[in-house]
Amino acid sequence: PGEPEIEALQHADVAGLLPVPGAESDKYRRGVVGIAAGSARYPGAAVLAVAGALRGGAGAVRYVGPAGDAVVARFPETLVSDQGPAKAGRVQAWVVGPGAGDDAASVAEVLEAEVPVLIDADGLRLADREVVRGRSAPTLMTPHAGEAAALLGVAREEVEGARLESVRELAARYGATVLLKGSTTLVADSGGGAVRVNPTGTGWLATAGSGDVLSGLTGSLLAAGLSALDAGSVGAYLHGLAGRLAADGAPVGAGDVAGAVGRAWRDVRG
Ligand code: AMP
Ligand code: MG
Repeated sequence: PGEPEIEALQHADVAGLLPVPGAESDKYRRGVVGIAAGSARYPGAAVLAVAGALRGGAGAVRYVGPAGDAVVARFPETLVSDQGPAKAGRVQAWVVGPGAGDDAASVAEVLEAEVPVLIDADGLRLADREVVRGRSAPTLMTPHAGEAAALLGVAREEVEGARLESVRELAARYGATVLLKGSTTLVADSGGGAVRVNPTGTGWLATAGSGDVLSGLTGSLLAAGLSALDAGSVGAYLHGLAGRLAADGAPVGAGDVAGAVGRAWRDVRG
């Protein structure tokens, strides 16, 4: 029999992957996630990525970028640095790109780090493909259909009409794990194999800043030690469920989705 092309994520699989602390845990062993995001124009993207990261299971969230004041005002537990990513201190994973504008230098610095990196939003446009291909640590890219189309050099409709092929093609071209967002989110691993499908999404998640929450949440799971494939799968699953729980049949903002991640987590753990 041939290999299955796609695998639907199940509650029980996700439950087994959640990073739950034990007696031996401390904040550093739980993982530190670095967030390089936001700009003068889009400070909120930094706040929302940090909001997601705080609910993802890492022991600490480090922020680098120009929105430190806004981040600390909302989340005083964040470790903020006004140095670039290379001087920010140790992290176990980086998230780069949400609301980052044209900060190509930060993207390049993050890609040099020998830890897992999640690239989203503006970071996708600014990341050099050969540099991504040459990384020794895992890379997870999280485009929506429009961003995926730009990376592939095709029209958005082409990606929408061939989502499975598109996510596989991107993973092959970049040598990275790719999470293609949408009404059903797909996650393709860098080495090929079955593509994971997330069933928990809801149209209420189609709201500004929602993807920034996903990137922080998923980056935190990377810092906690999940593989890029598992972090992407679990992140999408929790984010979709949080969207459902937060919305409960009525519109929500992205901050509400971040605030419901804990409920999604408890729901999965049963
Ligand atoms: P972004 O476009 O970066 O803000 O990300 C949007 C987020 O919302 C992603 O996690 C998408 O998977 C999710 N999303 C957008 N539209 C839908 C939809 N119609 N159904 C389910 N999830 C969606
Ligand atoms: Mg986005």
